[in-house]
Amino acid sequence: MTATIPLPVRGGCTDLPIAPASNATQLPVLKERGQREVFCGLTGIVWLHRKMQDAFFMVVGSRTCAHLVQSAAGVMIFAEPRFGTAILGERDLAGLADANDELDRCVEQLLARRPDIATLFLVGSCPSEVIKLDLSRAAERLNERFFPRVRILNYSGSGIETTFTQGEDTCLKSMVPHLPASTSTTPELLVVGTLADVVEDQFTRLFRELGIGPVHFFPPRRARELPPIGPNTRLLLAQPFVSETVRALQARGATLLSSPYPFGVQGTNAWLRAAASAFGVPESRVIEVTRAPAERASKALARFRERLAGKRLFFFPDSQLELPLARFMHHECGMELVEVGTPYLDRLLMEAELPLLPGTITLSEGQDVEKQLDRCRAARPDLTVCGLGLANPLEAEGLRTKWAIELVFSPIHGYDQAADLAELFARPLERSSRLTV
Ligand code: SF4
Repeated sequence: MTATIPLPVRGGCTDLPIAPASNATQLPVLKERGQREVFCGLTGIVWLHRKMQDAFFMVVGSRTCAHLVQSAAGVMIFAEPRFGTAILGERDLAGLADANDELDRCVEQLLARRPDIATLFLVGSCPSEVIKLDLSRAAERLNERFFPRVRILNYSGSGIETTFTQGEDTCLKSMVPHLPASTSTTPELLVVGTLADVVEDQFTRLFRELGIGPVHFFPPRRARELPPIGPNTRLLLAQPFVSETVRALQARGATLLSSPYPFGVQGTNAWLRAAASAFGVPESRVIEVTRAPAERASKALARFRERLAGKRLFFFPDSQLELPLARFMHHECGMELVEVGTPYLDRLLMEAELPLLPGTITLSEGQDVEKQLDRCRAARPDLTVCGLGLANPLEAEGLRTKWAIELVFSPIHGYDQAADLAELFARPLERSSRLTV
């Protein structure tokens, strides 16, 4: 299989299709299974609660879970928080108290005090799963009392066999059965995966100028305003970690548009083109609309390319953004890829990205952290993208690192953020060069 990715001519406005660097769909995948170093799915609450302004996330977990969410999301002193933890105490864990009764009591108290909550997510954790507390039955039971005032949903954010971005996937999937059926007889676009509001506004403007519509975003800004779904829905993915959600949306009749992800100028060009082609927008109109923002972004990127070109990059598996980011760093910033690790390789969601990776890389799936650390030490890359737990030890060994989680927390999609994304990779190198001067 071959694929092309439109590349803007430097200083010009035309898009050129370039051949992929290799047929990386054929690349051997190094599959590893062993000890992993990743955050759990609870982390997704950090960006999901900011996105859905009328939702509340109640983790049913331990004090450790509460600490994780609290420290990852920051302490909100002046605002009413929209996440919290129903802490399973020793009596719950030992089966001495009825955890269901306790949970009902916590939910009752919360909803009595917070009339602003329209959707309540009960979020499972390792402890709630270990004691087999059935949150789907709890949600059903509580919905009988509180729906339609509040919709109660549940999903798992546990760290058992997951990586941290899967929390968003399981959250979105829990909403899919509740999406209203679309009655539209013409195509509608559904952008799937959380985008910062500022980025969503930029894309909304571009879709409007292209004449693409109606456009909905999932998750929506208000959990009560769920987007419609049906056979005329075209799915365009903003995030590469929504595997289960995509399958659930397909089961409701939606069609997936295959595209690289909107990272960098090329990725954004290709992503908008995928939508344009599904909606019959002529190429001339696409060029007209994207010319100025693409040129602006290319210009802003140029100064980071100077600093990053030729530098060697190693990705540990963490955020599931690794493949599209590696493509961006290689094609648009000139970085040399050593190893690109991903927690899971979903070929359906990576169909358009895989052929764009160079054939010289090691593509790995899963993790055996000690073996991977050995490979990283042997390669001595200029920059290593990894989780927080690995960053400090690697820094102590003289390797420069970038925290993968920062790439999920920052707005990095689209034209206007392309240079910011490159800067996130350039910063550790610059800091290191300043320190060694
Ligand atoms: S869900 Fe599991 S991995 Fe995550 S904080 Fe709680 S105990 Fe730790």
